[in-house]
Amino acid sequence: MFSYRHAFHAGNHADVLKHITLLATLRHLMRKDSPLLLVDTHAGAGIYRLDGGAAQTSGEAAAGIARMQALWAHPDFDEKSASAPANKAQAAINNEADALADYLALIAGFNRDGNDDWRVYPGSPLLMHALMTEPARAPVHDRLKLFEMHPTDAQALQAHIEQLEAGRQVTMARQDGFDGLKALLPPPPAAGGSRRALVLIDPSYEIKSDYAKVAAAVQDALKRFATGVYLVWYPIIGRPEAHGLPRRLKTLAQQAGRTWLHATLNVGAAPGGAGLSASGMFVINPPHSLKGTLDAALPLVLQALGDGRGRGHAWSVEAGDAG
Ligand code: SAM
Repeated sequence: MFSYRHAFHAGNHADVLKHITLLATLRHLMRKDSPLLLVDTHAGAGIYRLDGGAAQTSGEAAAGIARMQALWAHPDFDEKSASAPANKAQAAINNEADALADYLALIAGFNRDGNDDWRVYPGSPLLMHALMTEPARAPVHDRLKLFEMHPTDAQALQAHIEQLEAGRQVTMARQDGFDGLKALLPPPPAAGGSRRALVLIDPSYEIKSDYAKVAAAVQDALKRFATGVYLVWYPIIGRPEAHGLPRRLKTLAQQAGRTWLHATLNVGAAPGGAGLSASGMFVINPPHSLKGTLDAALPLVLQALGDGRGRGHAWSVEAGDAG
């Protein structure tokens, strides 16, 4: 327990898939002017150094977000990503469909230190916070609840949150995220009576019981709040529990009469064959636009991240109706 540190993996291909899906989903939900409860059950440390020992040792960010930065900097990028901006960041915000440019603009926003290479990578808490505090969204007053169990990462996360000076709008607990989620659902009604929530469930799967805990947490959450948007990341590895999880989540969504989306990204084996090469995102109650958004973004992601790696390159996005 607690040998996993996300600092070794921050900005890898799995984070790229996870965070593009998360941001595209959140952008869509934020088109409505009613407040959202955002929950990150496994939040990590908040922000990570790409030039620090952990990232340099693993090389995962170099094979992930650093390649995405090269794509972002490429003069043809705007054309490829189907936006035609004078200013990439502004175009990304204007065009919800362009999830890839939006994601890269956000990461670039954390790296305005004048260096050529991006030096930090924001984790899911800071990405969600960035969207909820954009000038157009800030008056809506969304709330962000974070859980992180690792003593060092929880301390780092707490320090990053304090720097945000967000008061009660962003809170964290050093508590089991599966347990913590139960007390938050259903979210309290907003002024107009609507209840809205997005929940990211992103464990490290360090222990194999995490797979069953994810399924149990989603089942319980759907009972408490069937219309919540639930996003689950999982690794695609040769373990029956990992193969079984998306099937189980699909069954849970169908039994609850909810729509779902399942996206996968396999960047091919790394030279030497070590490390994770594929992962998936399962979303319950996805925005209707999410399939088209990911269909457009993932081929470009795969082109950037799969180059020079071994066989197995593939991406997929499957969506299902309420069954
Ligand atoms: N969501 C983060 C992001 O996208 O930037 C990354 C999270 S990382 C994959 C998983 C985190 O969950 C690790 O930091 C780990 O310490 C933490 N963790 C493990 N078990 C936990 C639990 N039961 N409750 C809360 N956090 C846990």
